[in-house]
Amino acid sequence: MTEGSGGGALSLVELAAMDVARLNGVGDRKLDALQKMGIRSLLDLLWHYPRRYLDRTGGSTVGDLRPGTEGLVLGRVGSVSSRKVGNRRSMVTAEVRDATGSVRCTFFNQPWRERQLQGFVERRTEVAIFGKVEEFNGRPQFTNPVVDAVGDRTGRIVPVYPQSEKSGLSTWELAGWISQTLRRSSARGIADPVPSEMLEKYGLTDRNTALRQIHEPESMGEVTTARKRLVFDELFRLQLALVLRKREIERSSLGHRHVVADDEGPAPGMVRRFVEQLPYPLTGAQVRAIEEVAADLAGPVPMHRLLQGDVGAGKTVVALAAMLTAVQGGHQAALMAPTEVLAEQHHASVRALLGDVSIEAEGTLLGSRPLGVALLTGRVPAAERRRVLAGLADGTVDLVVGTHALIQDGVDFRSLGVVVVDEQHRFGVEQRAALRAANEDGVVPDVLVMTATPIPRTAAMTVYGDLDVSVLDELPPGRTPIATTWAQTPEAVEAAWELVRAEVAAGHRAYVVCPLVEESEKVQVASAEETVEELSGGALYGLSLGLLHGRMAGADKAEVMDQFRSGRLDVLVATTVIEVGVDVPDATVMVVLDADRFGIAQLHQLRGRVGRGAAVSHCVLVTRDEISPDGEARLEALVRTTDGFELAEVDLDLRGEGTVMGERQTGRNDLRLASLRRDRKWVETAREAALELVGDGTGLDRYPALAAELALAVDDEDREFLLKN
Ligand code: ADP
Ligand code: MG
Repeated sequence: MTEGSGGGALSLVELAAMDVARLNGVGDRKLDALQKMGIRSLLDLLWHYPRRYLDRTGGSTVGDLRPGTEGLVLGRVGSVSSRKVGNRRSMVTAEVRDATGSVRCTFFNQPWRERQLQGFVERRTEVAIFGKVEEFNGRPQFTNPVVDAVGDRTGRIVPVYPQSEKSGLSTWELAGWISQTLRRSSARGIADPVPSEMLEKYGLTDRNTALRQIHEPESMGEVTTARKRLVFDELFRLQLALVLRKREIERSSLGHRHVVADDEGPAPGMVRRFVEQLPYPLTGAQVRAIEEVAADLAGPVPMHRLLQGDVGAGKTVVALAAMLTAVQGGHQAALMAPTEVLAEQHHASVRALLGDVSIEAEGTLLGSRPLGVALLTGRVPAAERRRVLAGLADGTVDLVVGTHALIQDGVDFRSLGVVVVDEQHRFGVEQRAALRAANEDGVVPDVLVMTATPIPRTAAMTVYGDLDVSVLDELPPGRTPIATTWAQTPEAVEAAWELVRAEVAAGHRAYVVCPLVEESEKVQVASAEETVEELSGGALYGLSLGLLHGRMAGADKAEVMDQFRSGRLDVLVATTVIEVGVDVPDATVMVVLDADRFGIAQLHQLRGRVGRGAAVSHCVLVTRDEISPDGEARLEALVRTTDGFELAEVDLDLRGEGTVMGERQTGRNDLRLASLRRDRKWVETAREAALELVGDGTGLDRYPALAAELALAVDDEDREFLLKN
């Protein structure tokens, strides 16, 4: 029996419209279970890829297990026993045997395992056990391994599917239905909408073969080939969606064509005067980024650019060059910060950087007037707020710094030309529409998004694939690198407090960072409240210590920060509230307690709070007891390098794509097989391929089959956008 009567190969869209209920052996109960796993159509089933493969031709025996590595054993369950440990925990143990020996499997708090495993004993079901191999009394052992019933499946290579214990579907049932689907679709075959020249260029097999071989491979080599193609498909669809969206935004909105140079040279007068009055020359990276931004500003399409640069790389100068370009042309500029504290800091540093740069003004005595620079946050008093709002509406405020509230209702600009967004606000199509509405001239402003969280290049291509990216990969000269050490012994911790005392004695200041605000009964982790008590009565006796954490009232926080900045406090004991933006150049030491509790990016951000002045700075990462191998790897990386991009790569390796995909949903649904970590090369290939196909802005008209399947794979926001076109 074959599917349908229509000619030609089956498209994914057709497969997505075919209900799994039509398969033999899928009754109401199984249908229910499949739906719980999110499998409704034949396409869902084909996209349910094996979790791993059992190769009966070698490996997978008890004799091959090596403690400390991951291991897979194919065997039969011999004996099962269970007992209670303490008064709550249960423990089920089973022996799994094959021709080479037996391995003990222990399951904690999975009382249902007893019945399951007993069933396997009675039916003599073949099982696959997968997990980390440990050693116990000189014998290999698994704790809480994954158990898959393999049944009596034949074939050299057996696919093992992610299954749901609760819904009661077994891997061999899934394999059976998938195999049925493949058989029934074999007459028509599965269509391949990717141009064959492209497949050839990238050395990819056709989709029909790939889908067959990922599920029913004859060899592990076939799995590799199939996976390559299917990974490409996922990433390619994603990149197509991103490139199409980018081109659509460009096509549909008209921006200002800013004047970015004049007769006297590159950069119009005000930007030039601004750069000339800076007390330092720009770094090469800053010059490059300013040029990239200028090219965007000059064009008719609104800029949508991400400026990535480590803490201290000098992003503010680049942002100001962009903002002044707008102001110079008679428009306004806004800088948005994530918090009020940061907005206030930005406001202060912007004023300082601008010096007395003025704006040409006809009809005035001097031919120029001072720039109108304003601050707008929730803390600005009502009268001042009214004044600022009026200034934005009549254009006398040229440059405004504030929080996200700046682009929300009630704020109207006479002509907002450039918006700089600090720290990765979600900034998409909606926000652009809001900006257009807030603007009396109805034009969409140019947008520059700044982030100090370095993202690996390929990840940025995926997560920010609809933005252009500029990178500040060079720190201004003269920065003294931060010496980072890892203190694991009481002596090393003692030395850290000595270092704090010495730095304070030399006129500097120190941060002590704790994972928690207050003591917790659940975990033994340093809390800021406890630590401040302990240190002031102990290791840091005699110094003046302050406490800062997120639960304090805004005014109290500001007060403490003031005292620390001015030197009335020597040591600030804090939680991660100091992660972003706090700028105290005299702070030269940071001690992070229970540092393994933090992620790489967070520690990197924290560490950026020191090393902001001319003096040598130190960061001491303190841990106690045993920490996880991942924790170790994180701390080792931080000790080894201060390069944020290198650290981001390590982070991606350790944590996988969750870290970078967290913020944005785009493409999540479609990444079943592809990993931003393992498949970096394919991300670039897919980007290249997408640009080749739709980079010229002509859309997917010439590729209707691709256009149709794109809508299957991308998320709602993208789908909405794609359907609109
Ligand atoms: P970021 O926002 O990228 O963390 P900032 O813009 O706050 O960095 O700049 C950090 C510090 O470096 C500021 O004090 C700034 O004045 C200074 N700075 C910026 N560019 C340069 C440069 N080219 N040379 C020396 N110092 C610079
Ligand atoms: Mg900054």
